[in-house]
Amino acid sequence: MGSTASARNGTWRNWGGTVAARPAREVTPASVDELTAAVRRAAEDGLPVKPVGSGHSFTSIAATDGVLIRPNLLTGIRDIDRTGGTVTAEAGTPLKRLNVALAREGLSLTNMGDIMEQTVSGAISTGTHGTGRDSASIAAQIRGLELVTADGSVLTCSEKENPDVFAAARIGLGALGVVTAVTFAVEPVFLLTAREEPMPFDRVCAEFDQLHAENEHFEFYWFPHTGNTNTKRNNRSAGPERPVPQVKGWFEDEFLSNGVFQVANWVGRAAPGTIPAIARISSKALSARTYTDIPYKVFTSPRRVRFVEMEYAVPREALVETLRELKAMIDRSPLRVSFPVEVRTAPADDITLSTASGRDTAYIAVHMFKGTPYQGYFTAAERIFTAHEGRPHWGKIHTRDAGYFSRVYPRFEEFTALRDRLDPERRFRNDYLRRVLGT
Ligand SMILES: Cc1cc2nc3c(=O)[nH]c(=O)nc-3n(C[C@H](O)[C@H](O)[C@H](O)COP(=O)(O)OP(=O)(O)OC[C@H]3O[C@@H](n4cnc5c(N)ncnc54)[C@H](O)[C@@H]3O)c2cc1C
Repeated sequence: MGSTASARNGTWRNWGGTVAARPAREVTPASVDELTAAVRRAAEDGLPVKPVGSGHSFTSIAATDGVLIRPNLLTGIRDIDRTGGTVTAEAGTPLKRLNVALAREGLSLTNMGDIMEQTVSGAISTGTHGTGRDSASIAAQIRGLELVTADGSVLTCSEKENPDVFAAARIGLGALGVVTAVTFAVEPVFLLTAREEPMPFDRVCAEFDQLHAENEHFEFYWFPHTGNTNTKRNNRSAGPERPVPQVKGWFEDEFLSNGVFQVANWVGRAAPGTIPAIARISSKALSARTYTDIPYKVFTSPRRVRFVEMEYAVPREALVETLRELKAMIDRSPLRVSFPVEVRTAPADDITLSTASGRDTAYIAVHMFKGTPYQGYFTAAERIFTAHEGRPHWGKIHTRDAGYFSRVYPRFEEFTALRDRLDPERRFRNDYLRRVLGT
């Protein structure tokens, strides 16, 4: 996977380099039975248990000093139900493997995030999402779950079976049990036409409601220190397939978006005063393009330049005001920000601790190049986001605690009550969960 390192000295690190942990031991179960045995043994030894995915969370949500459960041998497709339109994947399956396997079967998820390095269980556990007018996060596409709970038993849930568990465990923060299999709704593979186009910041803000209403998947990147954005609209298409030509794709997605961008960030880190000029050039480097391809090739792209990120979900109607406040804050401050701010949307869903739970949502994500101080920027941004009742992504940097979450999630206590029932001894505890859930 190349994303997390369990270095020879036994230290686990996340992709963003923000978290390191030294587990007491590591286990790589090859079956649900082996996993169950590992959870029971940890209980006998009085150790906490933490399954990890591919370490793509920026928070310490996956960190443990107890038993670290690796997903590497719990992978693959368990079942395809064409009549029911579902596919069941082993929890450790990387999303890229799932996407490729589905495409081979003529199937696809409806919506997804912008990379596919994460595992299925890791992605759903923090509420990983893309952008959508009608379709929501990856977890919202789940039809059934299987998990091993703290007492070592296997629990299955769906809308009909253990619906209270299903409501919460789709985005379970790793707090309710170890997910072993996930059943997703899938549909026959379809084509999306992507239109990428630069647009002035003021125009995107003025026309945001319309752009969102007219497109199945609308998102944009605003470049701080400029009035420029790059917009992306993805809509279903009858074809024909017109992928980005290979050489052009390499030049734009690898050379410009990763290679040149990496160098620009090195320069910016060494000489922050150059960042506004670099941002003006970067924001103009990519010209408009249109292409048509299968979903995962349109939604996802490689992200090789390492960064740290904070992302908040605000009520969709508060997006433009929140974004203008963020821009004003950056314009007024001495901050130099070399990474674009990303804006996406999701419709309201019914998952207890989903960032889009019960409300139409817009996401605003701020990033900093790895190795650049980010605290000042993120603290100022977080002040703006929380003033709009923002809900932070569970896997991205934030400073909120249980007191805050009980105010911004109307069903917060439903989740903690279920946790009390499924994991009274806090077998799946870590410091992060203690902070965000209160115990
Ligand atoms: C480059 C990059 C791009 C990203 N793009 C997006 C994006 O487009 N949209 C978005 O929303 N997020 C995005 N993220 C965030 C990322 O999707 C989430 O942090 C996700 O949770 C990471 O998945 P993972 O497999 O790496 O899990 P990890 O980070 O390793 O773990 C996350 C959580 O899942 C739990 N977990 C893992 N396996 C299990 C299991 N079997 N049972 C129970 N709990 C389990 C862990 O204990 C932990 O609590 C991005 C991150 C990076 C670094």
